[in-house]
Amino acid sequence: MNPAQQPVYEDQTELADVVAQLRTRPPLVFAGECDDLRTQLAAVARGEAFVLQGGDCAETFSGVTASNIQNKLRTLLSMAVVMTYAAQVPIVKIGRIAGQYAKPRSKDTETRDGVTLPAYRGDAVNGFDFTPESRRNNPRRLLETYNASSATMNLARALLTGGFADLRTAHSWNADFVRSGPVNERYLQLVQEIERALAFMVSCGMDDEAMHTVDFFSSHEALLLDYEHAMTRIDSRTRTPYDVSGHFIWIGERTRQIDGAHVEFLRHLRNPIGIKLGPTTTAKDALALADKIDPDREPGRLTFITRMGAGKIRTNLPPVIDEVMASGRLPVWVCDPMHGNTFTTEGGVKTRAFSDVADEVQGFFDVHDKCGTWPGGVHVELTGDDVTECVGGVGELGEGDLDQRYETACDPRLNRNQSLELAFTVAERLTDGRIRRSNPVQAFVPASF
Ligand code: PEP
Ligand code: MN
Repeated sequence: MNPAQQPVYEDQTELADVVAQLRTRPPLVFAGECDDLRTQLAAVARGEAFVLQGGDCAETFSGVTASNIQNKLRTLLSMAVVMTYAAQVPIVKIGRIAGQYAKPRSKDTETRDGVTLPAYRGDAVNGFDFTPESRRNNPRRLLETYNASSATMNLARALLTGGFADLRTAHSWNADFVRSGPVNERYLQLVQEIERALAFMVSCGMDDEAMHTVDFFSSHEALLLDYEHAMTRIDSRTRTPYDVSGHFIWIGERTRQIDGAHVEFLRHLRNPIGIKLGPTTTAKDALALADKIDPDREPGRLTFITRMGAGKIRTNLPPVIDEVMASGRLPVWVCDPMHGNTFTTEGGVKTRAFSDVADEVQGFFDVHDKCGTWPGGVHVELTGDDVTECVGGVGELGEGDLDQRYETACDPRLNRNQSLELAFTVAERLTDGRIRRSNPVQAFVPASF
């Protein structure tokens, strides 16, 4: 079916009314910000910066609360601090946030105790509750998606420019950690080191604006074409189309058919674009997608987000990288260590093992080391809360612990401890790479006089 993964609405007049309203709504992001992100991603492609992309698998309308948004931002900011200190290159921070409300599903229906209902496709489409009324596709939810994204973006912008992201407050981002432990200790030690360095710089007269605020971008999977199309505007400066529902949008593994509607739609947009690449991707597939989405080979335009699985990345990724690089292209390579590592426990709970997630990240660095390419970033499903959805990590969460706080509306996310632990794993590889890099790319280079 083409377009793939689209909800069918009973009432087309209602849908048309919603789309017409969305067309008149103000943009959630500005085209110029999308251009900035493209420029920053071009630096990533050249090996001069690293991407941290993360957030919920599926945001929910009820999850749009101040504390929820703050916790997610805090988690991303603390991870970014850990990585910046290690890599000594800028970390480009992109939330899976303010628009991640629609999910592709492998099955159209769900059966529980003999009752079959349409599958939950994300709050943008239908409700999570297992009742016929809730599971009905409702186009009005697209307006609610806009409102929820708008409220989230508004708070994120206010917090990040209003002092929340000030490096001097980094020690407090984890202050309310429920289960403090070794990861938190390690974080606090690192922050103390950073504070000493900052104090030194300030004493020397350097107190730059960059210490008080951060760049932050929004992203989501561009799945629902009715919504994304309605949120596309012609930029007055350049007369070109931007999807102003988010800064960065990506095409999922299930909707990246080369002749499919999603590829056709996204290729016309000026936003930086991500494409997920699963374990069966061939170099030919990747090159065909690159030619279609980025025919002009524009720096920063194209990000490949690989999600091969811990057991497959070391064998399946190298041929793809080798041929893409041989074609002279320079995409951003990002590792999604989540979607190739999902499994169901004997008790029937969908989960992921922290050890698999960390292993795919290690494999990603190994492969790029071998190919001589820059491992450009990580893409993680995480939450700022102390949930119990993925097993393992320093807290050694077991399968029996999963029901304590299993709150995701879709895939299992890393909790705050596990996210921070993953950041340290990434940081170790980045430090290692920095020390071994013959031509360091970081802006600060020691000199002799
Ligand atoms: C996702 O990112 O939530 C997702 C569905 O990923 P993928 O398209 O890689 O399966
Ligand atoms: Mn997911």
